[in-house]
Amino acid sequence: MIKTICISNQKGGVGKTTTTVNLSAALAQQGYRVLVVDMDPQGNASSGLGIKKHEVQDSNIYHVLIGEQNLQDAVFKSPKDGVWVATANPDLVGAEIELVDMPQREYRLKNALATVADQYDYVLIDCPPSLGLLTLNSLAAANSFLVPLQCEYYALEGLSQLLNTAGLVKKSINPNLHIEGILLTMFDKRNNLGHQVVEEIRSHFKDKVFNAVIPRNVRLSEAPSHGVSIFGYDPKSIGALMYAELAKELLARTANTQVSENKSFDL
Ligand code: ADP
Ligand code: MG
Repeated sequence: MIKTICISNQKGGVGKTTTTVNLSAALAQQGYRVLVVDMDPQGNASSGLGIKKHEVQDSNIYHVLIGEQNLQDAVFKSPKDGVWVATANPDLVGAEIELVDMPQREYRLKNALATVADQYDYVLIDCPPSLGLLTLNSLAAANSFLVPLQCEYYALEGLSQLLNTAGLVKKSINPNLHIEGILLTMFDKRNNLGHQVVEEIRSHFKDKVFNAVIPRNVRLSEAPSHGVSIFGYDPKSIGALMYAELAKELLARTANTQVSENKSFDL
């Protein structure tokens, strides 16, 4: 059964793309067929997985969303990680506006993904840092959403807005949507504040927080410029180990929750 997870947080720079790229690569390493859908006009997930800009010039998710292209024509194989990528480039900015007047405007990605559903086990959607139509399309197409939260003082800022939006999507267009989990990112163990934030978030969100915590690790920030995940760049780094842990945890949770897809994410 295909599982579609949206990686979302409307704050920028919290680790959405890093998580999409490395979690997808970790799942591919476990033998799963994984599609990454890059829904951010910055296209960082596409380039971070080694897809070159000129390759995606005429074939990308923008053309799919506005109905000019089939999804499978916008999918490229990442050269090193064995992940498939529905790519994005800056054209995608236009989709936020162009989709407004289109029929089924919130369901365009969901409908496109339905055409490839038998080809993948996991779909990870890398959301842009906004709550516009691109994120709505992503939440509408997903079974669940995973929220990366940076371990810093303002970590929770904006989270209630994201949860409200997800709640509206659940009520009106995707009744099965649930929260996959909260992922703490960029944790610095030498920083007391980081420890406090982790404790606070765990006491508040309890088992919705993944046990795996992603540390601040310079190797994670270097890998994208080589067009490869952390597993291809530095598989022994702490960043690689923790993203592998996250994948394990996700797979275990998936096995346990197959029957309770409907669980609420009221927090
Ligand atoms: P988002 O997609 O939410 O905007 P990114 O994943 O692009 O966030 O991360 C923002 C920046 O922080 C990028 O330069 C990325 O390489 C870096 N980064 C992300 N996670 C880590 C980490 N755990 N350790 C060090 N740098 C990180
Ligand atoms: Mg990003």
